[in-house]
Amino acid sequence: MILDINKIRADFPILKEKVYNKNLVYFDNGATTQKPKQVIDTISEYYSKYNANIHRGVHFLSNFTTEANENSRKTIQNFINAKSEKEIIFTKGTTDSINLVAFSFGEAFINEGDEIIISEMEHHSNIVPWQMLCERKNAKLKILKFNELGELKIEELNELITNKTKLISVSQVSNALGTVNPIKKIIEIAHKNNVKVLVDGAQAIQHLKLDVQELDCDFYAFSSHKAYGPTGVGILYGKEEVLNKMHPYQGGGEMISSVSFEKTIYNELPFKFEAGTPNYIDNIAFAKALEYISEIGLENIEKYENQLLEYCTKKLKTIENIKIIGEAKEKSGVISFIIKNIHHNDIAILLDQMGIAVRSGTHCAEPVMQHFGISGTVRISFAFYNTLEEIDYFITSLNKAILMLQ
Ligand code: PLP
Repeated sequence: MILDINKIRADFPILKEKVYNKNLVYFDNGATTQKPKQVIDTISEYYSKYNANIHRGVHFLSNFTTEANENSRKTIQNFINAKSEKEIIFTKGTTDSINLVAFSFGEAFINEGDEIIISEMEHHSNIVPWQMLCERKNAKLKILKFNELGELKIEELNELITNKTKLISVSQVSNALGTVNPIKKIIEIAHKNNVKVLVDGAQAIQHLKLDVQELDCDFYAFSSHKAYGPTGVGILYGKEEVLNKMHPYQGGGEMISSVSFEKTIYNELPFKFEAGTPNYIDNIAFAKALEYISEIGLENIEKYENQLLEYCTKKLKTIENIKIIGEAKEKSGVISFIIKNIHHNDIAILLDQMGIAVRSGTHCAEPVMQHFGISGTVRISFAFYNTLEEIDYFITSLNKAILMLQ
């Protein structure tokens, strides 16, 4: 065993909870992960001992918490190997990070007739902000399609790019299919054509080791709550030179260096993009979550979660009338499936009665469902605290559910 699972599970209080008097099996980690006590205790400790608004006061508590918030920024910078802490912007989550770029990059660089490329497998958060931008600017949204395995047709990317293309926005890991996309290749192709790239890392940051300098992406967006941290916090990484050319997304306190009715001067990076009181205690707790992940080691996490994925996929394939949606060679964390003639919600409801939390529906990726001509899937998504025994129990329970529903 690569990981000390018992020790890890003991860190997550919720995993001891019962659901309908059954042991909880939590397979909905793609939606949000559970939190270790190190994160929960940090939140409690800061509210109990150190709470004061940051960047404003001269008093002890304010200075203490300001320093902790800025140290968290450094932890996040190191975690993704960004060149500078100025490139780490605290947001509310992946959605907020993408909207920030769609607005600010859009204002600075997108003109009538320009083109933005996204993929067919994006989460709605990586579709709708670009549609809104295209509507505002009279620009065009183009779609990179995927094949029947759920792999992007990367060979079509060169043809999609024209001299009007300004940005490609693509997920590293699909939340509906589990596909790991070849983002390094996409970035290489894009940069050869002078096109910037935003990577939606919402389903990747918690599973795969990231080095933004090596990857050379222009933007990278992710959420704390999907990576064992609190809700309400996300990160936008952006290259300093690009961020410097973008206007602030929102106006307010913190994002200015001086204000008069005649002229306001914006603050420097990263504060220029952080209007208002930040969610500082959750920012600090998010850094704790990343420290927790680092202690286990992302290489170990990846290896272990791949074992879970392979084991579960093999077992699922023994079930009659099952179709796995998304069978890319490179996958991470997620298995989506349907059972012929049984509604995905009915399966999820029966599994819930047996203590198993799975997701059913479109997973905020309706174009993926449209591609396969289905109304939704059952989705299981893993974290490093899941076990092979839980998978065995899940398979037995799924078989029972199918028998009841046939
Ligand atoms: N992108 C992907 C691939 C996701 O899976 C999700 C959430 O499920 C998001 C973006 C949006 O993340 P959030 O709701 O944390 O902003």
